[in-house]
Amino acid sequence: MADLEYREMQEVLRKHDFHFKKKYGQNFLIKPDLLHDIVDGAEVTDEDTVVEIGPGVGSLTRVLADRAKQVYAIEVDEKLIPILDETMAGYDNVTIINEDVLKADLTDIFAQGRVKVVANLPYYITTPIILGLLEKDLDFESITVMVQKEVAERMQAVPGTKDYGALTLAVGYYTDPQILFLVSPDSFMPQPKVGSAVISLKKKELTEQQRSDAKDIFTVVRAAFNQRRKSMVNALSNAGVLGRTKDEITEAVQEAGFDTNVRAEALTLDDFIRLTECLKR
Ligand code: SAM
Repeated sequence: MADLEYREMQEVLRKHDFHFKKKYGQNFLIKPDLLHDIVDGAEVTDEDTVVEIGPGVGSLTRVLADRAKQVYAIEVDEKLIPILDETMAGYDNVTIINEDVLKADLTDIFAQGRVKVVANLPYYITTPIILGLLEKDLDFESITVMVQKEVAERMQAVPGTKDYGALTLAVGYYTDPQILFLVSPDSFMPQPKVGSAVISLKKKELTEQQRSDAKDIFTVVRAAFNQRRKSMVNALSNAGVLGRTKDEITEAVQEAGFDTNVRAEALTLDDFIRLTECLKR
């Protein structure tokens, strides 16, 4: 079916007396080429099930539905549901779910296999959405999403920089991140104040051991970065990480090969994995 043209989008919004809500991060894409670039970047095929977070009026949803086997679109704003019913009429492979993605139980959808997440994300909750998908260990092949440019850079940051943190490490543990392209504010209605980027996170094949180790590793990572200006020993002992005392933490940091003054941002993912092993001994 045809793309949702800008004029059609405006008409449907007017007809339903829709007002954009800042609190839901509503910046709708208005450039059809960009919608196709996102779906191309996600490499969606007719064998894929796609989970879209925040379909808005359904412009990306239509392009996805034309290419995927099945699309599940999760939208929190109930005012958009009658609009989506209208713009998606005629598609029998789209299910609209009126829920908050952070609260929705998506286990059954992800259990179907060959799931790709594709979205122009609401920027105010980008990090909890991505960390939620990663840390719940949901079975997806890839996540291809529009995010704020700075957040995309954080996902690809290197140790020792201010962008480097818990998000970088979680993304790097579970996926191979790659920024696909940058997007300017004039591609949206209304225009956001920030630049955007589309990033692809392809899921790595993890062993059972790596999957079960993740919980402790990220307990340590979060505790370390929650107080990133403090030394690792102080940050981890303030959090009482993994039930260890300050002396035990000092010993583990030394055993892992670090100075006791080392800070979280100096450690690579492999360093955190080794430190967690030492803390668990
Ligand atoms: N996909 C549309 C597009 O590209 O034009 C809209 C993208 S807009 C940046 C983000 C969308 O996410 C909005 O439709 C907003 O209502 C929805 N949204 C915001 N918070 C949400 C949440 N917690 N759960 C599900 N959807 C949410």
